[in-house]
Amino acid sequence: MVIIIGGGISGLAAAYFLKKQGIESLVLESEARIGGCLYSVETEQEVLEKGANSLLCDSKMRALLKQLNLEGEIIETNAVSKNRFIYKNGKYRVLPSSPPALLKSNFFSLHTKLKILRELFAKKRQVGVQETLSEFFIRHFGKEIHDYALAPFVAGIYAGDPSKLLVSKTFPQLAAYQENYGSILRGFIKNGSAERRNSISFKKGMQALPQAMAAEVAVRYEAKVANLERVDKQWIVVLSNGEKLKADKIVLAIPAKAAARLLRPHAKRIADVLERIHYPPMAVCHLVYPQGAVSHGMEGFGALHPRREGLFSAGMIWTSSLFEGKCSPSDTLFTCFVGGSQFEQAARLAPNEILKRLQNELAELYGIKGEASAQYFYLWEQAIPQYDENVLPLPELLEALEQQQLFVSANWHGGVSVPDCIWKSERLATQIAMQA
Ligand SMILES: Cc1cc2nc3c(=O)[nH]c(=O)nc-3n(C[C@H](O)[C@H](O)[C@H](O)COP(=O)(O)OP(=O)(O)OC[C@H]3O[C@@H](n4cnc5c(N)ncnc54)[C@H](O)[C@@H]3O)c2cc1C
Repeated sequence: MVIIIGGGISGLAAAYFLKKQGIESLVLESEARIGGCLYSVETEQEVLEKGANSLLCDSKMRALLKQLNLEGEIIETNAVSKNRFIYKNGKYRVLPSSPPALLKSNFFSLHTKLKILRELFAKKRQVGVQETLSEFFIRHFGKEIHDYALAPFVAGIYAGDPSKLLVSKTFPQLAAYQENYGSILRGFIKNGSAERRNSISFKKGMQALPQAMAAEVAVRYEAKVANLERVDKQWIVVLSNGEKLKADKIVLAIPAKAAARLLRPHAKRIADVLERIHYPPMAVCHLVYPQGAVSHGMEGFGALHPRREGLFSAGMIWTSSLFEGKCSPSDTLFTCFVGGSQFEQAARLAPNEILKRLQNELAELYGIKGEASAQYFYLWEQAIPQYDENVLPLPELLEALEQQQLFVSANWHGGVSVPDCIWKSERLATQIAMQA
């Protein structure tokens, strides 16, 4: 029997793909709901996402969604979503979406454009193990690209700080481009046939995905794992109510610090490493306004705020522009992000203070008159694991763990995005099936 600890997307996908390999498993989830960071809430008027807002979808993902009978539930992004706005020199501007568009637009200075052209001739070199995204991007593209494209993007996707995140762990593909071609741009040109992926959501919210997987596998809710015991080459999983379950193999699909607590009696070194993984806090706030109250056209995915511009929030998704049906057609819905590694102090303010500052910031940026008609606040005390120097010892330690029939599929190793979590679990299921 395989026991999977954690009913987020990683754990559920592991159970789903194990079943496809003919291996039964049991998912133990501590909460009364599954999904972890996929957490949707329906109010009378809105479908709100407390966690992940969208999912990058290619043909492989579409095939999976079809198998899960979710095809009819998909909401595609509206055409305007190709526009991503960045706050620069006191106003919102569309970020050019390709190198040719960038060279044509006046978003970046001539100096930066020349630096980009010169990048095409960069020489091959190894990526340093400790090399950060900041060092890597400044060397290839200069400080302006770093400050106004990379840093806000990394804040928006990873809640991260590029001066801490490692290029080899966060963008392994870019590291490989440098090693194989020298130039990142040439790497993109040579691999240009890579399939385009579109962001999607679901009518009832992102939680539809883990719910569809949970319907196919065995899940126990409110089953918090308190302890692991090793007896005669078997694992005994001890729940917080004292109940004990036997397992031949365990898959850990829980956050790093929760995994550290369970692993400490069996693998102290990895427990120490997992304890050190940093998860910055992130507040996710939804603000709703009647459409007439907002002067900005909001024709885009949303806006990101580079730290050097000194705004309060890290950015926001223009949810009502992006997806149909997430709120009443006569409303404008913002999903705002406050916190992450570059804005940590802001997330530690009191919820009322955060909402007040957000309302003021939105009023100024979007020419809004009047108060929000509804507002919602949710705090992730520990949002997204940071792939900084603390994660470097993990590969070797995880390999040693597998000798004890303990496996990992979790967002703190091998990618944080929802697709990364799903495909890692698929690979793990194949690996386990090959051992069986
Ligand atoms: C605010 C936010 C926005 C995001 N936006 C996006 C996005 O738009 N697109 C995208 O692709 N990704 C996004 N992500 C990242 C992505 O959602 C997560 O990395 C991914 O969902 C993590 O899945 P997981 O299953 O590995 O972990 P989790 O979702 O953390 O699931 C772990 C589960 O384990 C359970 N658990 C913990 N301890 C125990 C225990 N002792 N016993 C039993 N169960 C336990 C928890 O209750 C939880 O359900 C976002 C993340 C956050 C926080």
